[in-house]
Amino acid sequence: MPVLDDLSGLEFEAIMVDVFSNYGYENVEQTPQTGDEGRDILMEETVNGQRREIVVECKHMDQVGREIVQKLHSAALTHDNSAPVRGMVVTTGIFTDQAKEHVDKIRAGGDGMEIELVDGNRLREISEEAGLDLQNGKVELVCRHTLPPGDIEKPVLEQFDSVNNIEPSEIGSIESSVQFYPVVSIEARTDAKFETSVGVIHRVNECDTFHLRGNSSQPKPIDDSLQQFLDDDSHQFVELNDPTVQEGFDSITIERFRHAESDFKEWAADQVKAEHTETVEYTGKNNVDYDKECVPSDSDISITNLTPMYVPRIRSKTRLLEHGYSLEYDAAGENHRIIENGIFRCNHCGWSWISLTYCENCGSINCWRHIRTERVEGTPVCTECAVTGRFALRKRFFYDKENMEQFREEFEQYSPHKMILENRPAIIGFVLVVLVALIYLL
Ligand SMILES: [Zn+2]
Ligand SMILES: [Zn+2]
Repeated sequence: MPVLDDLSGLEFEAIMVDVFSNYGYENVEQTPQTGDEGRDILMEETVNGQRREIVVECKHMDQVGREIVQKLHSAALTHDNSAPVRGMVVTTGIFTDQAKEHVDKIRAGGDGMEIELVDGNRLREISEEAGLDLQNGKVELVCRHTLPPGDIEKPVLEQFDSVNNIEPSEIGSIESSVQFYPVVSIEARTDAKFETSVGVIHRVNECDTFHLRGNSSQPKPIDDSLQQFLDDDSHQFVELNDPTVQEGFDSITIERFRHAESDFKEWAADQVKAEHTETVEYTGKNNVDYDKECVPSDSDISITNLTPMYVPRIRSKTRLLEHGYSLEYDAAGENHRIIENGIFRCNHCGWSWISLTYCENCGSINCWRHIRTERVEGTPVCTECAVTGRFALRKRFFYDKENMEQFREEFEQYSPHKMILENRPAIIGFVLVVLVALIYLL
């Protein structure tokens, strides 16, 4: 098995503790490093209501021979325990035939000790069943649930709905892709008491919650707005492989958690220590004042909950005539949080305030500076696609040349009075100037 290669033997043992705990063994403990050979991990199981202790030897190597099985056998036999004991050798590699034969021999022999051999392939299976993935030299977290993507089209339609002059029937097919990205939520409890010769000088009794990005190179907290978003929706998870979750998407990416469960726990513990470290002043029995830095220790901190989850990040594309519109958002059922809004903004200048209007001539969305009224149809047309002509010195906007020519013919039939009325702003301006002049003269 090529993975896990970069680990030292001790790191490998620590990971196995994670694997076995998640797999369902009880009281899984890595033995002190100075401990006996052949007893790397001790754990317990209950079989038919009876407790049984398991002595585990971890071998981070390509091939494990008989000698190691023999060593484990004697370590298990001499293990001081009142409950029945069995043995297990776990390796990232394979067992030699001699090692396997030796196990059979022990089982058939006098003491009847049962020894289980877990090779690299079996280890991978166990890890997956335990919800952990062996990748990049780590037992990465594997998560099977996600916040639900919800109705994919709704957020898109909502954005188009807030644009003037757009009919739902004009919105064609919406293409959507989803990227499930990993987040880990951790709760840590700190119960620390700091004592000196004068008694307890400081106590910490706190519960902290962290939300971390699961796929950054180091575990790091998610940003505040995502945090709020996740807090709003109180984690209504659905199964990631539920067909309805993946329905309707043109492409699906599921990102990996790039760290082991223990990495996230360690990060959280470090964070807790940093947050609750305090320098406390106290007066000693000799009446001298002292400063003591109170740092919670590992044993003061317990991780009470670790929940991995996926958040669906959806990217949609919609085409309206000559223009394409994208919307990127995180979804959680009925709720969503927009990351990038490519719909509610002017196609020409990017303006995205208050009111925008659709140009049904070219499919663009426009701010007030880039939308005009089509002279013949009386409907909105954008400054970009319109054909323009001057009438009574005023610039007029048309869908196309035919409309302009049609209007030109009509205009030429107008009475001089009506022609002048074509430029109302100029008339109003003129009247105002005359009024001001009159007031001035009077
Ligand atoms: Zn604009
Ligand atoms: Zn247009």
